[in-house]
Amino acid sequence: MQDSADVVVIGSGGFGASTAFHLVERGAGDVVVLDRHDIASQTSPRAAGLVSHARTSDLMVQLVSDAAEKLMRFTGDTGQPLDWTRSGSLKVARRPQDVPVIAGDVERGRRLGLDVEEIAPEDAHRLNPFLHVEGVLAVLRVGNDLYFDPAHVAIGYARAAEARGATLEPHTTVTRVDIEDGHVTAVVTDRGTIHTPVVVDAAGAWTKQVAAASGIEIPLVPTRHQLFVTEPLDGVRAELPIVRVMDAAVYVRPCDGGLLWGGYEADPRMLDMNALGPGFAIADTPLDADVLRRLADDVAAQLPVLCTAAVREHRGGLPTMTADGQHIVGPAPGADGFFVAGGCNVAGLSVSPAIGDALAAWIVDGEPPFDLAPLALGRFAPDSIPQDRLERDAAWEYRHFYGAV
Ligand SMILES: Cc1cc2nc3c(=O)[nH]c(=O)nc-3n(C[C@H](O)[C@H](O)[C@H](O)COP(=O)(O)OP(=O)(O)OC[C@H]3O[C@@H](n4cnc5c(N)ncnc54)[C@H](O)[C@@H]3O)c2cc1C
Repeated sequence: MQDSADVVVIGSGGFGASTAFHLVERGAGDVVVLDRHDIASQTSPRAAGLVSHARTSDLMVQLVSDAAEKLMRFTGDTGQPLDWTRSGSLKVARRPQDVPVIAGDVERGRRLGLDVEEIAPEDAHRLNPFLHVEGVLAVLRVGNDLYFDPAHVAIGYARAAEARGATLEPHTTVTRVDIEDGHVTAVVTDRGTIHTPVVVDAAGAWTKQVAAASGIEIPLVPTRHQLFVTEPLDGVRAELPIVRVMDAAVYVRPCDGGLLWGGYEADPRMLDMNALGPGFAIADTPLDADVLRRLADDVAAQLPVLCTAAVREHRGGLPTMTADGQHIVGPAPGADGFFVAGGCNVAGLSVSPAIGDALAAWIVDGEPPFDLAPLALGRFAPDSIPQDRLERDAAWEYRHFYGAV
């Protein structure tokens, strides 16, 4: 393994691989990507692959819009395959208190140039016959939304980065980042040390652990998220819009002739990566089908198919939740050269093309390409969030991902 680099990226998931690709594209010099497992093999390929433009801030709508553009031209930009379908989506309110959220989504979306409108429940049923109108009070249609094959993105960016000169080092575990006089000097691994002035902690579920080894606190919590893929079903077409039920926090989209669906329970399982030990891989995450069955029961009136369709795949992973539901992107205060791309909040893969590009620009130019302060690590005062409060707030954000109040 080489002993020096201009930038070392820790982690080859969506966040790390996209950052590495954009670093090389922007002429950042000698870029090395380290991963404790196979390249792009952990949470990223297990995602649902949904892109959601209906977000709670202008910044996130703009980042998701940029990311969606990059996903749709992924093959042209990277030379790597990516299957995607711009199906649009339907966001469903079942409770009166959630209806104004949809009105707010329409206002923000129109102001920012999205194809959004509120439509009648019957029109939503016509667009996606698997959605029944019983108990549906309001529906937001988002024409810009799409879904993509989650297995393609991180590996595609990693391969494209390698083809442009980056070095990929799988099965290489970072044990510590050396920081001297407030500056990053080296990355220490189980295979040797790489001297570097810049490191990107994009270690997914291990992000907090990697930073903590160098005395940097990153308040996020690995949180289990799972989905089912059904056997093929009559009537499923790839263009059927994604459906999201707000208060139940359940989503469904077409997948290989069947449906892929999952959801966000109120009491998600949160894990301590230190307790899981060094041999743990995301494939070892204990899954629980009963969580998904309870969510299916909750939406049985609107999406009865979820209660009856035969399941052909059950998968899950460990996205990381933050106390305010926002990502953590940018430099670590007090550690010059230490950058973070984490706190994915179960939505990191879809926005990783834009986050990776923005972070690469920040590293190369020395300043952010636009105002990313709402995502700064510094918004959390060091040690200010006790673990129990972090977990409580993160669980609330998890359950309320679709803006239900
Ligand atoms: C079931 C499910 C559905 C989801 N659906 C969606 C969706 O529809 N849309 C969406 O945008 N997102 C979705 N997500 C979330 C998405 O998967 C994550 O936001 C994204 O994959 C996070 O990428 P990452 O790069 O942070 O993590 P990862 O892909 O896990 O990559 C982190 C990498 O860091 C490596 N690493 C860790 N520690 C070290 C170390 N010490 N040294 C070296 N390497 C290290 C790991 O091996 C790993 O490869 C879903 C997630 C799940 C589980």
